[in-house]
Amino acid sequence: MNISVIGAGQMGNGIAHVFAQGGHTVTMIDIAQASLDKGLATIGRNLDRQVAKGTLTAAEKDSTLGRITTTVDLVAGVKAAELVVEAATENVDLKLRIFKDLDAHAPMGCILATNTSSISITRIAAVTKRPQEVIGMHFMNPVPVMKLVEVIRGYDTSDAVTRTVVELSTALGKVPVTVNDHAGFIANRILMPMINESIEALFQGVGGVAEIDAIMKLGLAHPMGPLQLADFIGLDTCLAILRVLHEGFGNPKYAPCPLLVQMVTAGKLGAKSGEGFYVYTTGSKDLVVAPAFRK
Ligand code: NAD
Repeated sequence: MNISVIGAGQMGNGIAHVFAQGGHTVTMIDIAQASLDKGLATIGRNLDRQVAKGTLTAAEKDSTLGRITTTVDLVAGVKAAELVVEAATENVDLKLRIFKDLDAHAPMGCILATNTSSISITRIAAVTKRPQEVIGMHFMNPVPVMKLVEVIRGYDTSDAVTRTVVELSTALGKVPVTVNDHAGFIANRILMPMINESIEALFQGVGGVAEIDAIMKLGLAHPMGPLQLADFIGLDTCLAILRVLHEGFGNPKYAPCPLLVQMVTAGKLGAKSGEGFYVYTTGSKDLVVAPAFRK
């Protein structure tokens, strides 16, 4: 299948990776050539890791990379697409603009999927003339490792499109789980309030960064503490999701913690910017708490 992936960030490059490894032809599209270069380099490193582990041969790595091309031209990049997976920044206006462009330039019959973490599929579909072909295909981070694909049906999404996306996900070795369209769907409706509450507890001085993460790891068997996970997801993405939940439910319990807002304003976005609750520039394998949170 011809698949176009929009956005070459942490999710986009992972989605391109798994589709190409699954034998599909992939066009990765971004507005910035530097993001495409970085995304492709990340895919190469992740494939190398699979080869080192013995889960992929060197020849399979080469053929996977050989199936991926990149472009900054959305119109050219989607003109032969049978499926588009949009994984650009979590911003509603941006996604509405992209889907208007996709409606104008992707072939009829092409499935238009979004990897949004929280934004209404129905709202995105409504800017197109083919809402029956629009669907949520929510991969988890890191995409090559995580099994779940949360499949979200918008108000008009057709049964045939849902079936195709479920079958495609299964063929990639993923486990698709289908849900309906409501702010945050299931994964982030439940995860983000927990992350926000952890930041609130830090903000109120109830515990430090390491203590909060240790309690959730050791006490609840979470593989990663919520503050480390927030850094890993991206604090800008966490804030954007919380704002969608807050607006979508009109309930103050989803209001983002002021500390999260302040960190994003200061450009502390977590691992991708080098600093969040922890710092990621030390070269150390151990987690190092960011200076702002050291006692
Ligand atoms: P990111 O910041 O790593 O990457 C976003 C990419 O989108 C950047 O490379 C940027 O240049 C590109 N972009 C921005 N505008 C664009 C446009 N008009 N056309 C093409 N590319 C454009 O973000 P991410 O973490 O990869 O998140 C992407 C999407 O995936 C978001 O909707 C997010 O909510 C969702 N998501 C994120 C996670 C996570 O853990 N980070 C998990 C699941 C889903």
